[in-house]
Amino acid sequence: MHPFPGQLIVQARVVEALKEARLTGFQPVRVEVQWGKTVKSPRGEPPALYELLVTGTAWRVGMDLESITVCKECERITFPHPDWLVVDESRWDGSDFFHVDRNPNIVLVTERVCRVLARHRFTNYHCVPLPPKDV
Ligand SMILES: [Zn+2]
Repeated sequence: MHPFPGQLIVQARVVEALKEARLTGFQPVRVEVQWGKTVKSPRGEPPALYELLVTGTAWRVGMDLESITVCKECERITFPHPDWLVVDESRWDGSDFFHVDRNPNIVLVTERVCRVLARHRFTNYHCVPLPPKDV
């Protein structure tokens, strides 16, 4: 689930699979869960859910702190050309989950993540391949 862009909520078995595969760049944080009022007859406890806080970082090609800062006074930053996602691998920390240009709304993952999710037949996600670098 993603209640907000970039916010990833998953079940415990997803966290287990990601850890087992030794994937990096995320920190699972248990979230408080209760059944909503619209659930007529809840069966037992709701499942354990975790938010995946993404800790990996990277920059897009040609971008740096100066080019995303719109106001030097309050240090407000922006994310120009949001559809253009070309990662500068020399400024990627190598994590499997990572943000680019300090934008928490955009979560990029390595192919390894997609393979693990697919192998376990997890649902309700979509891995969208990024275009090759020289496009
Ligand atoms: Zn300002």
